[in-house]
Amino acid sequence: MKESIEITETTVECPVKGCSEKVERQRKDFKREERFKCPKHNIYVSSSTWEYPCELDNLLWKDKADLDLFKKIKTVKRESRIARDNSEDAVTWNVFRFLERNNLINVFLDKVIGVTVQESEVIYWSYSQSQNHSWDMLEKARKEFELVPSKGSEPDIMIAGKNALIIIESKLTASNENEPSNLNVENKYKTSGQGWWNEVFSSDFKTVAIIKKKYELSRFWLLGTWMAKQKDLDFYLVNLVLSEREKDIEAVFKRHIKESQTRRFTRITWEDIYQLIFDLEFSGTDKDMIIKYVRNKTIGYDGNGRLQRAFSIH
Ligand SMILES: [Zn+2]
Repeated sequence: MKESIEITETTVECPVKGCSEKVERQRKDFKREERFKCPKHNIYVSSSTWEYPCELDNLLWKDKADLDLFKKIKTVKRESRIARDNSEDAVTWNVFRFLERNNLINVFLDKVIGVTVQESEVIYWSYSQSQNHSWDMLEKARKEFELVPSKGSEPDIMIAGKNALIIIESKLTASNENEPSNLNVENKYKTSGQGWWNEVFSSDFKTVAIIKKKYELSRFWLLGTWMAKQKDLDFYLVNLVLSEREKDIEAVFKRHIKESQTRRFTRITWEDIYQLIFDLEFSGTDKDMIIKYVRNKTIGYDGNGRLQRAFSIH
């Protein structure tokens, strides 16, 4: 891809090196329309990113087992922009599937989060591989807490073990700032689970979810602690971010929650995971591929048309 592209008021240059095609400049929501497509490379282009013709083009692991699993995940996963260069879902899949394929999930949990987990299952976007549908425990929690359970919370990654439940909320270019679109959720969250909110929060819903705009994190904290409690598991809510971003998220969010020996909120970074993989006494094609991927990963173009690297790796 080009290190920089030319952007005018009305046109954007195709980002593929050597390509001189220009397409109409699109604004606001990304659209896959013919007029925004490079006719030579079949990619859809905007001034800040591009989208591959097919979702699989953005995925590293395409063995039969991977493709079967991906297809099944798609049956439960809600929205998907996985074909886009700056897709956090694509990075999540590529990194966690690497760990899982190579039996490194427990090493990751131990070294990066500091938790020892036995017999863990990785649940991608609510899809349970052992149950072949969305994880029953999550469905129970959605029924208990969500106004519209079918549109309820969808953690990027959950790792369910014999002794612990871990929810990983991953962020690449987006921040943790978000608010509920429907304010009626407040009463539902406050009263459900026999007043579970007050068990695990020290601030009220309005403060955390609306004033401090930590709506998503507070849902995962609420539902996650509740699910863990049902099964007597330790619970970890893990916020996975870029090393340069949201360095104060622990201090900010911890002000509003009640942590304990068995309930923790923690921030980790993509770069921590890269370092773990890099340092592993382990070699092979998978490792070469993921190292190269992370080093070269881009997140589209900035306002000046310059290609941005996703990770701070030296
Ligand atoms: Zn092109």
